[in-house]
Amino acid sequence: MRTQVAIIGAGPSGLLLGQLLSLAGIDNMILEQKSKDYVLSRIRAGVVEQGAVKLLEEARAAERLHREGLVHDGTEIAFQGRRRRIDFKALTGKVVTVYGQTEITRDLMDAREAIGAETVYEAADVALFDLKSDRPRVSWREGGETHELQCDYVAGCDGFHGVSRRSIPESEIAAFERVYPFGWLGVLVEKPPVSHELIYVNHDRGFALCSMRSTSRSRYYLQCRLDEHIDDWPDDKFWEELVRRLDPAAASALQTGASIEKSIAPLRSFVAEPMRYGNLFLAGDAAHIVPPTGAKGLNLAASDVHYLSHALIEKYKNGSAKDLDLYAAKALARVWKAERFSWWMTQMLHRFPESSGFDQRMQAAELDYLFSSEAAQTALAENYVGLPY
Ligand SMILES: Cc1cc2nc3c(=O)[nH]c(=O)nc-3n(C[C@H](O)[C@H](O)[C@H](O)COP(=O)(O)OP(=O)(O)OC[C@H]3O[C@@H](n4cnc5c(N)ncnc54)[C@H](O)[C@@H]3O)c2cc1C
Repeated sequence: MRTQVAIIGAGPSGLLLGQLLSLAGIDNMILEQKSKDYVLSRIRAGVVEQGAVKLLEEARAAERLHREGLVHDGTEIAFQGRRRRIDFKALTGKVVTVYGQTEITRDLMDAREAIGAETVYEAADVALFDLKSDRPRVSWREGGETHELQCDYVAGCDGFHGVSRRSIPESEIAAFERVYPFGWLGVLVEKPPVSHELIYVNHDRGFALCSMRSTSRSRYYLQCRLDEHIDDWPDDKFWEELVRRLDPAAASALQTGASIEKSIAPLRSFVAEPMRYGNLFLAGDAAHIVPPTGAKGLNLAASDVHYLSHALIEKYKNGSAKDLDLYAAKALARVWKAERFSWWMTQMLHRFPESSGFDQRMQAAELDYLFSSEAAQTALAENYVGLPY
């Protein structure tokens, strides 16, 4: 078998890249280790930057997002019982759209099926070969048989635990990492959100976030210890703890119910450099992870795909590899700024077990400055709505 670009992983980055390449007439094949239903059942990101919306429009997969997505002009931050609003639209002229990653994935899968591009689900033991040659190969097992695909380029879009980054010799890649000493316990509930915008909460008992996926489906998070398990958190205990961390107005508006999904996600900052090895290009979580506090994971996957799809299209249409050579540097420049923002938001809003009285006063001063300075609010807003590509 032969294709121009072999894409590993059918998450948002792989599907979006595949769609943009197919629409530009570039042959590609996606290999995904899980089943389609499994990929669609993962509950993850929900805040989409304008740049990512534009890319989904280019991919002809934004129709339902425009119909069902919720446009948010701002967000609120609660500290010491008071809430302050950061008005994105007034400060930057830009907004974000709340639309679940699951729905984006479904729309991209439907768009891919509509144009007849190929995806192999349940591709086991994917392995990459000859990445430094101009004829890289990918093999996988499916239905008891081993298959092999020849290609010009491999796009490693297979997330943090994927095979692509691990196929790069250790001497050719450097990893930079910070693991945070807490996780996010998330609950999805079929109830209207407590507020029409997200509320980020810095509380003595730990961080909380009131988010949503639609006008009838809410997503709430609590900072929890890393050694905790979801069985330690029956629904009643979750709601009691959330109410303790909210201000009185939010607590009384909260509609609780039976959780339809509950999970604990560890928080990590991670970047692998460079995002290229020979003719293998890494994109999305395969190359970097951010703590979800800045809502940047999915959006960074989209900006990587923007740079990579343009570079591949330039190579196939005009024969120039210049943009492919610049891909890693361009993508990483944006990645590190999003890493900085996500780290800063995490630092400002969570309780760190080791933090001293000095650290807590620094955090209070940071929030006080943010609430009192339009310049500081503009800096937050500019990063939250997404830096330009
Ligand atoms: C639990 C959780 C909660 C999150 N919450 C948020 C949030 O609230 N806000 C936010 O902005 N971001 C969030 N993120 C991050 C966001 O979901 C990711 O940044 C985004 O999914 C990245 O997309 P991706 O396509 O690069 O990677 P992924 O979505 O991880 O997709 C990679 C795909 O590759 C497949 N794959 C893996 N290994 C192989 C292999 N060996 N062979 C073939 N296929 C393989 C996987 O099955 C998967 O389908 C969350 C992430 C997690 C894990």
